[in-house]
Amino acid sequence: MKIIAFLVGLIFLSPNISDAQAKSFYILNPEVEQGDVLIIIIEPQWQTKAMGFSICASVKWDGSDNPGQEYTPNNYGKIFIGIEVDMKPGEYIVFLVECGRGVRLDWYYDVIKISERSFGKPWYRTLPKRNPKISARREEEKKIKNEAYAKASAGEDYTDGDFVNPLDSITINDSFGTPRIYGVYNKKTKTWMAIKGIPSVPHGGVDLQAKIGTPVKAINSGLVLLAHDFPLSGTEGKMIILDHGSGILSLYLHLSRFKVKAGNSVKKGEIIALSGATPKGTPPHLHFMTRVNETNVDPLRFIELANQYLVK
Ligand SMILES: [Zn+2]
Repeated sequence: MKIIAFLVGLIFLSPNISDAQAKSFYILNPEVEQGDVLIIIIEPQWQTKAMGFSICASVKWDGSDNPGQEYTPNNYGKIFIGIEVDMKPGEYIVFLVECGRGVRLDWYYDVIKISERSFGKPWYRTLPKRNPKISARREEEKKIKNEAYAKASAGEDYTDGDFVNPLDSITINDSFGTPRIYGVYNKKTKTWMAIKGIPSVPHGGVDLQAKIGTPVKAINSGLVLLAHDFPLSGTEGKMIILDHGSGILSLYLHLSRFKVKAGNSVKKGEIIALSGATPKGTPPHLHFMTRVNETNVDPLRFIELANQYLVK
């Protein structure tokens, strides 16, 4: 019903009848689950270069009459949309607009369907004590990461064919999306009690088993945005962020040694670091993440999906 209401209220410009009847884009995988990635391809005649202005895909996530959220394609007409783990399951409309203005250009729309996914068993953890000095330090560190993210070139595509795993052998210690609940541990009853009012935090990546010193590989070619040591306990430790273009980043945490530095370009499969147990107190493992369009998505499923749909 929402879709019909949306179409009835629609006003758009159409260059001519034949253009209006052609599909202007297609969705490679219109049915996904929370934490997955949608891939949209804009037809060449609707890409920026052909149109003379920028075309974005728009998605009405709230189903209302508000303008949809816009997604900018890379220079080759591809759009990757990361679906948040808490995205409300349902059907959503996708259509093309002139970027920044929300003006629709053709009649064509398509529907994506997001299904609920059950993530791993919740984990409890204690709420860190308030410490103004540490909070200030974390703010500084967030700035370092945000500056790195801002350097990503979403228009480029640095990838070289299929994606590979970051480790030769993959054993999952903790899967993507597992909820972290803040709680209080009762030593007598040996049980956790959740602290009310504090939302749980989904595991932003996947924890892979890795002895200290295991070679860590770039999952595809790209640019090193950041190779930085975050030493505060409970944080990233030594961390690398790679930019693969198209709004796709891969992140590797708790490393022991860097083999690359910020600004380097890396080839797919290149050893970029050795895994580790940083910062102090972290058990040895690799926390591996992919960030697509500023959303953390299931990294191993992203690799599978990209290889299924993009590599011929
Ligand atoms: Zn982790």
